[in-house]
Order: sequence, then C-alpha cells, then structure tokens
Amino acid sequence: MNRFKETIYNTFIALLIFIPIVAVAHYYLFPQETKCILIDYSSFKKDGRLYYDTATSPKTIDSLKSVISEASLRIADFWGEKKADPKFIYCATDSIFKKYGDNNLDPATTHYKLGSYIVINKNGIDLDIIAHEMSHAELEKRIGFYNETFKIPTWFDEGLAMQNDYRNYYSEDRLKAISDNFENLPELDSLKTARQFWSASPQKVMLNYMTAKYQVKNWYSKLKLDNLINDLNSGESFEKAYDQ
Ligand SMILES: [Zn+2]
Repeated sequence: MNRFKETIYNTFIALLIFIPIVAVAHYYLFPQETKCILIDYSSFKKDGRLYYDTATSPKTIDSLKSVISEASLRIADFWGEKKADPKFIYCATDSIFKKYGDNNLDPATTHYKLGSYIVINKNGIDLDIIAHEMSHAELEKRIGFYNETFKIPTWFDEGLAMQNDYRNYYSEDRLKAISDNFENLPELDSLKTARQFWSASPQKVMLNYMTAKYQVKNWYSKLKLDNLINDLNSGESFEKAYDQ
C-alpha cells in the first residue's frame, strides 16, 4: 500500500471507530436530543412534520394540527416570516415525554441539534405554549446553534419567546402587582444561565419569566431584533448586539 492509500485507509478506520464513539457519547450525554434526532427510526407515526405515539387519539391529532397552524400564523406575524421548520413530537404520557422532552415534565420543550424539535407533553396542546416554543426555534434558525447555545442569555431567549405567549398569569398587570410597580424585579445579570433562571421555587421561576417578558417587551422593536440578529451573526457579543 502506498503512502496516500495508507492515509486514506487509516482515516477511514479512524472514522469507523470514532463516529460510533461520538454517537454513543452523545446518546449518554443528551439522551432526549439523540432520540429526537432519530425520531424517524422510532415507532412514532408521522404526519408531515408531526410525530405522535401510537396511543394518540385522532381527536388529539386534529387538535395538535389546528394549534400548530394557528401558532404558525402568530409566529409569521411577529417574526415577519416563519423560517424554522421544526419537527413536532407529541408524547401522550409523562414517561414518553421524559424520553424525548425533559425530566421536569414541562408542557413542552425545544431541542436544537441537526434541526429543531418541539416536544409536546399531554398538557402542552395550547396555542400560547406552542407559539412560545416555535419562537425559540425561529431565533435559533436565524442565529444558529452556536449563538443560541453560547451567546444568548436565558432571560433574553425566554423573554423573546414570551412575546408570542399571551398566557394571563405572565401578564404585565400581574407583574406590576407583585413587584411593587416594577420596583422589585430580579436583576437580568442574575438570570443569564439556565441554572440561574430555573433553579428556584416555582413562584420565583414565574417571576423570572414575567420579568424576562417585560424587559424584552420594553426593548423590542422589529428593527432592533433584526440588528441584533445581524450583529450576532457577524460575531458580535450579545451584550454589544443588545445595547443598541
Ligand atoms: Zn421557553
């Protein structure tokens, strides 16, 4: 075997060994994301971009489709255009949701890796909840996985998604009442990471969501959001891109 052929052969063998190791490591580190990526090879049924387990009733499938199409209109309205094309994975039981979604049993959650996946729990068939998750997918589509994962603080990610989430208990009136007229709000610097945002009592987490929604609403204009996306994509830090 000549030198060139030997290099190709060695690279091929290295890939054969390395790729399964990476795949197995990914499965152990991110089991839910891995299962979502492999959803086409699962026992889930597929209807367009919607996946559901076999226990799902036809009535539930109809509700899912109708909520997703209504949420798509809201998303197109806010973002100017719907660019993301997530896969929707509906889980009829908590135990299935834990396999694809998360261990906290949220109503829905979004994963991004090799595409975006909105995993919906049985209590997540709701226009506000789906629009919220689709908004996360829209941001990631525009700024990419790296910026979404490493640059965007959790408060901004959630605050922006909350602009498409009209649930009453996150309303500004409610925040005003519980924060002494917006005087006692958590500092945004204390809500940068997922751990900071969610590792708290349910009441505090709700206050975090309300605060994030309120702060992003006061900052937001379509132009500012477009500029922020462009700046992030040009390599700017979030702090500089946000502070326009
Ligand atoms: Zn969210």
